[in-house]
Amino acid sequence: MTALATRHGAVNLGQGFPDTDGPVSMLDAAKTAIDSGVNQYPPGPGVPELRQAIAEHRSRYGTEYDPDTEVLVTVGATEAIAASLLGLVEPGDEVVLIEPYYDSYAASVALAGATRRTVGLVEDASGRLGLDVAALTAAIGPRTRALLVNTPHNPTGTVFTRSELDAIARLAVEHDLVVITDEVYEHLVFDDASHVPLAALPGMRERTVTISSAGKTFNVTGWKIGWACAPAELLGAVRAAKQFLTFVGGAPFQPAVAHALRTELEWVEKLRISLQDKRSRLADGLRAAGFEVRSSEGTYFITADVRPLGFTDGADFCRALPERAGVAAVPVQVFTDHPEQWKHLVRFAFCKRDEVLDEAIRRLRGLS
Ligand code: PMP
Ligand code: GLN
Repeated sequence: MTALATRHGAVNLGQGFPDTDGPVSMLDAAKTAIDSGVNQYPPGPGVPELRQAIAEHRSRYGTEYDPDTEVLVTVGATEAIAASLLGLVEPGDEVVLIEPYYDSYAASVALAGATRRTVGLVEDASGRLGLDVAALTAAIGPRTRALLVNTPHNPTGTVFTRSELDAIARLAVEHDLVVITDEVYEHLVFDDASHVPLAALPGMRERTVTISSAGKTFNVTGWKIGWACAPAELLGAVRAAKQFLTFVGGAPFQPAVAHALRTELEWVEKLRISLQDKRSRLADGLRAAGFEVRSSEGTYFITADVRPLGFTDGADFCRALPERAGVAAVPVQVFTDHPEQWKHLVRFAFCKRDEVLDEAIRRLRGLS
């Protein structure tokens, strides 16, 4: 979709990346690191100051990790997800994913030789896509080894509530499962929603690999500095897999992210508020253009139903949109194993400057 957007000069609300930079002091710290020769392989688990800063950051949620044995720096959250599955799941095991799911999950489960079982989110009367606890319970069987949970959730923008997370925790404990949680949007939650890490719930720290990344928190998706936190035994397996995926990455960016985690969380709070406004701005614009909009409680994304505009298939809609209206979006069905069920929804990214959003809205209003 990004290639199509480029070809047609479309406003790209498809791929989720911001169009402004992260905190200046963090950018300067990376430049200083390069200038002072931090350009060779960093230590395998990550530079100590970053592991320390990550552990301090996790303690904000009441979870403590030993920076030496329980924190691993990775090449983005993507590598942390792949290394967790490769390290902790055996061929023939089953991994439960919540559908729609971020695209790398299915590929990483396949690379690990495992099988995925998917559990679809369900829509309530208010248009919120929430956890189907009965379906999740039914998806867990004797071969289930792991649950992969993403909250705040891409592509829907759902932030799991405490009671949804309690249900996941109860099932994980009951069936003795490993839980891999992707929390890359942990700071980007709106209105009354709040992010609760699964590892902070009773019985969960010992079985949870918590994954996050600097990309979304500090507007540096291209830096690819991510991390995984888990008890030493689980993390050891993730480290073993990571060693032969990339070994290490991003030497000069690691001290810069450590600096940002320690000193720039106020900047992140401003980012959160601005994204919340952008979410509302795009939601209003989409409604005015004739879409039926689903609620977005966090992340960079909002989903919208294309049926009121006379379309039946979001994939056809998104293929035509760049040429027809000069805007790009992503069909939600590409994040699922059940395209028919999710055919009517498309995802728009709102992590863009207001004038870019306004131009996209102006163009979309020409559709109806
Ligand atoms: N998980 C989710 C839910 C995401 O949206 C993204 C970013 N697209 C990632 C993981 C990947 O993060 P990173 O760029 O740090 O690898
Ligand atoms: N997380 C972003 C998205 O979902 C971008 C990642 C990607 O392009 N693979 O759009």
